[in-house]
Order: sequence, then structure tokens, then C-alpha cells
Amino acid sequence: MSEHDETIACSVGVDDDLGHGAVMPPLYLSANYSFAGFNEKRPFDYSRSGNPTRAQLAEAIAKLERGAGAVITSSGMAAVDLVLSLLPPNALVVVTHDCYGGTWRLLEARAKKQQIRTAYVNLRDSDALGAALRAAPALVWIETPSNPLMRITDIAAVASRAKAAGARVAVDNTFLSPALQKPIALGADFVVHSTTKYLNGHSDVVGGAVAAADAADVTELAWWANCCGVTGAPFDSWLTLRGLRTLHVRIERQQATAAALAARLAALPEVAAVHYPGLESHPEHALARAQQRGFGAMLSFELAPGVDVAAFTRALHRFTLAESLGGIESLVAHPATMTHAAMTPEARQQAGIGDNLVRVSVGLEHPDDLIGDVEQALKAAGRGAA
Ligand SMILES: *Cc1c(COP(=O)(O)O)cnc(C)c1O
Repeated sequence: MSEHDETIACSVGVDDDLGHGAVMPPLYLSANYSFAGFNEKRPFDYSRSGNPTRAQLAEAIAKLERGAGAVITSSGMAAVDLVLSLLPPNALVVVTHDCYGGTWRLLEARAKKQQIRTAYVNLRDSDALGAALRAAPALVWIETPSNPLMRITDIAAVASRAKAAGARVAVDNTFLSPALQKPIALGADFVVHSTTKYLNGHSDVVGGAVAAADAADVTELAWWANCCGVTGAPFDSWLTLRGLRTLHVRIERQQATAAALAARLAALPEVAAVHYPGLESHPEHALARAQQRGFGAMLSFELAPGVDVAAFTRALHRFTLAESLGGIESLVAHPATMTHAAMTPEARQQAGIGDNLVRVSVGLEHPDDLIGDVEQALKAAGRGAA
């Protein structure tokens, strides 16, 4: 019998404990597990290779992503790197030009060592994608919505063309989570997560996961994760599974608040532009509506000329100036000096990331408090400059 996602999130590992009947799954910190007898290995022998707590988190994420299985890693970056482990020598990786900065840095570092070759492409540009696919890539890397401009890539369209060209397809699903987007159902081979963000949702764990559509890929990913020792810690897995129980109610409330905030921002004179896929003015609104189950709780906006960005962030009381996203606490980030500071000003300008751009991760505070706070901070920042 198939279950709804909310039921999966709330039932994996529940009432499974044979020893004491613990309703909530116990945390197995033990590094090693005894053999039942000579040459009689149990399901787990050593926690780098396998751990009961980590296995429960993997099961939950695999089910939510509709994968054959999943591997839990020590960070989102370890999850990205794990997918690269499966590539043949000197493979060409076609990457969305607006991928996460850490992903860009890792790919460039591996390319410099001649372990892979990279080509950065605007995946929304059909001709550019066609040209890139003619170079026979082994992997196409999609990230949608993009950071920080919230542009949407058509996963099904890119995946079918990539597959026709013989490439595998990976989707970084961190910004929406499986609650709002199912890349495997749209044709992806791999789904990558920074579980640090929405899956854990409480900003107290750094972790990652890779779910794969194909069981043979899961086996190979698990082999590499054990080989390189990048599997996630049991306590982190336990916390993340605990956080994931409430994923669906969290993200529904967070995106409702984000939609209200986006609508309000769009009406304010201190704001020049709002980037939120839920707004009808967003260039890929229709695609987001078709491809996603919701528009998510991340948005960015541009301050109007004369509204000082530093003064704006200083005047906020309910938003913490910090990187990361997806937690219960609302955050504000300034991409030009924070998440995208490593790019040259020219590259940022080309990507549409101006000095007046602000990114917001909407948390679980009351919507009126968040909207009121942004309004007063914008007024203060506008006055200061006038
Ligand atoms: C944060 C993030 C990562 C990296 O994850 P870590 O857990 O910080 O290593 C990768 N992709 C996206 C989209 C992210 O937001």
C-alpha cells in the first residue's frame, strides 16, 4: 500500500525497536557491532560502512524522493562530491551556470586536477544546452530554483535531452526538498541534498544525502561513501530524521508566509524587483507551477535606488544576517558580500546579482511580525539615504 509523504516522514523507524519497544527510534552511537558467531556478520559491522540510525534516515529520504535508495553524507558538499565519484576519468560535466558556489568551487578544483572537465551552461537556453550536449557529457548538473535569483529550470525537458545524449542527470533539490519537488519522477538519476537546510530544518546539523533512481547506483554510491569515509554521523542522522518528521508542515507554513511577504514587497516603493516563483510576474511562474508542488520559502529582492542595503539589514529585528537557509528562523543574506563574494563584481553583474540584492529564507515566525519588520526596516533604510 502506498503512503503519503507526511506518513512516510512520521513512520520510518517508529515502533521498530525490538529490544525495548521504544516508540521513537533509539540513537545507535556504537562504532562497531559484534559478529553473531564465527564468520556470521550481522546487518551492521562498522559504523563508517553502515549504522542503524543512518540507515533509517536514508530510508526516509529515499522514500520521499522515490529513489531505489539513498546514501547519507557528512555534508551537502560531500554529497555533491560522492556523485562525482561515479564518473569515468576526465568526464565532461555540464553544469548550470548559476549553481551553488560551493559546487562551483568543488567542480573547478577537480577540473584543475584534471579529474573532470566542466562546461557552465544556462540550462534555460535551449541552443546552449544543445551545443553542450553535442560534446558528449557524462553528467548534467541541474539546480532549481537557482540561488539567489530563483530562476527555474525545466527538469523533465533537460533530463530527456541529456539522456538522449547519453548523459546521467543530477538535481540539487536543496531549495525545495522532496516535499515540493520530485526530480526522479521528472527523469533525474540522482537527487542531491544539503540536509543542513529544509530536511533537518532547525539549523543545528550540517549534513547531506544522495538518492538514486537505480539500485546499482545506490550500491556504488554506498561503496564510495564507505571507501572515502564521508558517511554521516549517527547523531546528525538522528537529529535530521527528527527534523524531517515535520518537513511538510514546516514548509507549507514557510511558503505561505514567503508568498505573503513577496506580494507585500512587490507593492512597496523601496523595492525595485522581487524574485519569487509564486509571483505571476516571475518569468518561469507557469513552469514552477507545473513542476513543483509549491513555490518554496526562499525569495530575493532588489532595493530601489537610494535605499541603503547595509542600513536595511541593520534595521531588521526578526531576520538574522547569516548564510544558510531552510531553518525555522528567518534569515537575510546579502549575496554580493556573503554567498557570492568569491565571484568578481563583473561576473556578479552578468549573473544579475547586484549590490542592492537581498536574499531571504523565511522561517516559522508569525507572518505579520516578519512583514512588519521588513516594512519598518525598508522605511528606515530609505530615510537614511534621503
Ligand atoms: C548549502 C548548499 C549546499 C552545500 O551543503 P553543505 O551542507 O553546506 O555542505 C549545496 N547545494 C545547495 C543548493 C546548498 O544550498
